[in-house]
Amino acid sequence: MEMGLIASEFDQCIKCGLCLANCPVNHALFLEKYTPRGKIQLARRYGRNEATITDHYRDIFYKCLLCGACNVTCPSGVDLTEVFTHMRQEIFEKKGITPAMKPALDSLMTCHNISREDNEERGDWREDIVDLPDHGYRKQKAGLVYFVGCVASFFPMAQTIPQNMVQILSAADVDFTILAGDEWCCGFPLIGAGAKDKMDEFVAHNVEKVHSLGAENVAFSCPSCYRMWREHYPNDFNLLHTTQLIEQLIDKKALSFNELPWSVTYHDPCDLGRNGGEYDAPRKILGAIPGLELIEMENNRAGSVCCGGGGNLEMTDPALSGSLSKKRIEDIRKTGAEKVVTACQQCVRTLKSQTRREKLDLEVMDITTVVARALSNV
Ligand code: SF4
Ligand code: SF4
Repeated sequence: MEMGLIASEFDQCIKCGLCLANCPVNHALFLEKYTPRGKIQLARRYGRNEATITDHYRDIFYKCLLCGACNVTCPSGVDLTEVFTHMRQEIFEKKGITPAMKPALDSLMTCHNISREDNEERGDWREDIVDLPDHGYRKQKAGLVYFVGCVASFFPMAQTIPQNMVQILSAADVDFTILAGDEWCCGFPLIGAGAKDKMDEFVAHNVEKVHSLGAENVAFSCPSCYRMWREHYPNDFNLLHTTQLIEQLIDKKALSFNELPWSVTYHDPCDLGRNGGEYDAPRKILGAIPGLELIEMENNRAGSVCCGGGGNLEMTDPALSGSLSKKRIEDIRKTGAEKVVTACQQCVRTLKSQTRREKLDLEVMDITTVVARALSNV
């Protein structure tokens, strides 16, 4: 890796410490070395050949959610997450894969998914759908590919997301298909693992499969797949997060809703909000459902706090990840809302796991569940 590429970033740092304000890891660990400023200074020392990569050094760079909250408050415009991602790549090149991520990396390289599952089973979430159409949402040609992603394909806690999405798209009469076993992981976990050089075959495979269907549009319910395709795939398709697609369908009056007398708060996923720039589409969707009351958290939109599931932290430090989920749930409960809605399968998984651990009376749901429950044109 060319350190000169990011030297301009860390050389801009004036050590003011404003990036500490919103960093969840800083608030949990209270040690300078784990703060964004501490990591930037360590990267600078490494770039000047004043530090070498040790296990401890590696540990510091993996205690990070790559959530981007520090980028928002930095007055010097340092792209901290870019530096941290480059440092993970450097660590991977010098020391190999971080042991906690080795099973996931092995699974990606052999099974093309993060779950060590037979990739042909990627579409098995359809088995719970009672009125499955003859083609099983798998067509030879379609205008839109719905790219489901690994977590929603394989984790039972998140499989309701694609089940809801096919119901919503069918209700709106959208010409879509899924890739099922032809879908491979988008490659995003490789970036967090520092193994960016291994992502090319994933990119080439997925692009070829979407082209073969003649599709011009690709929609993602996973904000990280959506980000990955925007930042690392060729610019061949019109890319949408599913909240943006649903917003368009509402604008076209292709969806109609029954009343849902719920009070909810909305948790902005890092890769959709801060790292994707999309704050309004989910709120417009919630606002279109009659009877539904949205109570905002104090730290919302760009000030949103990661659920604890970013940056592969769940793999490298599950205890820290759990304590950050707990903190985010405290923010949620302060609103008094009966449910928390988000637009990311990973946020659903981390927040739901924590509410179960704490036996809390708080329902965690993906926005597709809200839309599917409210649908009146089914
Ligand atoms: S990316 Fe998030 S967790 Fe990492 S240093 Fe920045 S604010 Fe902290
Ligand atoms: S806010 Fe920006 S300039 Fe200030 S310490 Fe953090 S990275 Fe450096």
